[in-house]
Amino acid sequence: VAQRLEKFKTTIFTQMSMLAIKHGAINLGQGFPNFDGPEFVKEAAIEAIKAGKNQYARGYGVPELNSAISERFKKDTGLVVDPEKEVTVTSGCTEAIAATMLGLINPGDEVIVFAPFYDSYEATLSMAGAKIKCITLRPPKFSVPLDELKSTISKRTRAVLINTPHNPTGKMFTREELNTIASLCIENDVLVFTDEVYDKLAFEMDHISMASLPGMYERTVTLNSLGKTFSLTGWKIGWAIAPPHLTWGVRQAHSFLTFATCTPMQHAAAAALRAPESYYEELKRDYSAKKAILVEGLKAVGFKVHPSSGTYFVVVDHTPFGQENDVAFCEYLIKEVGVVAIPTSVFYLNPEDGKNLVRFTFCKDEGTLRSAVERMKEKL
Ligand code: GLN
Repeated sequence: VAQRLEKFKTTIFTQMSMLAIKHGAINLGQGFPNFDGPEFVKEAAIEAIKAGKNQYARGYGVPELNSAISERFKKDTGLVVDPEKEVTVTSGCTEAIAATMLGLINPGDEVIVFAPFYDSYEATLSMAGAKIKCITLRPPKFSVPLDELKSTISKRTRAVLINTPHNPTGKMFTREELNTIASLCIENDVLVFTDEVYDKLAFEMDHISMASLPGMYERTVTLNSLGKTFSLTGWKIGWAIAPPHLTWGVRQAHSFLTFATCTPMQHAAAAALRAPESYYEELKRDYSAKKAILVEGLKAVGFKVHPSSGTYFVVVDHTPFGQENDVAFCEYLIKEVGVVAIPTSVFYLNPEDGKNLVRFTFCKDEGTLRSAVERMKEKL
């Protein structure tokens, strides 16, 4: 394997889902719903296939989807973006992340990330040859240490990477945090890459897009996808929204990574994004109920549950149960209890920082969540 990828192992999500199957454990690890996406979106995909929309799509997205994305972005942020020049459709947000790093970062450029972070950030930054500057968010609130950010950011910084609502903690960046990051980025001429795939799963506060802050659109790449919002994580439809000079870089990388994204699913994605507002309200209501079941359940089991404002994840402190670290706890939980969680040390540059925390997801039907809680009550 190439040196730049040597340190990365099989992703933790794959490892844990394989163990879940092997041990017949309830999978509250990898973040994928165990229920299906909406009928009208599935129908739109079937119709698109039957209507012969099966050859290569236009590289940066089928026109209907680029338009639907820009219309949705306007509803969410008030920003008007040109679907032809500022929206790029990719094969999932994971590809949008890779295309952003590879298309806009030069080897040796400094990029600031906040740990814990989603595993693909470090791997794609490594592929791009970036120099990673990591700032750790600490429990219980996982607030941004603004002084540390001020002393880390400089004219050598090319970009700051943020993720709000945040995987794995459920933290949402506050307006104050975003304002400070924004003013430091403007002062030092730094870009922001913002992963907002959980933006529709914001429960305790309103989601704020970095791009909507004054002076920020021109230096921001906003990354999003269909998977979480429409419970269709296997479709792998994502996108990047950025001003034309940044979109150029993203598209150059995208052109040679995948060239284009699955055509019929793009047509269905356009139909999905035109869902009435009631769809989004219902999604949030459903997930609030699931969240309550899991959070109350985990508390009753005896975990210290850290507050989660958004995403379909919660992190808990497992130390009351006496295992040495997060990996040992997750192994015990799978083998002895029959429940899968994700150890968080894999989300840190320094694994020690995550050793007390594990992540559970509540993107499962209520019966599954209740059974998992029952197993833990009985056997932990
Ligand atoms: N984003 C999801 C998670 O964090 C799944 C990621 C994956 O399987 N690569 O669980």
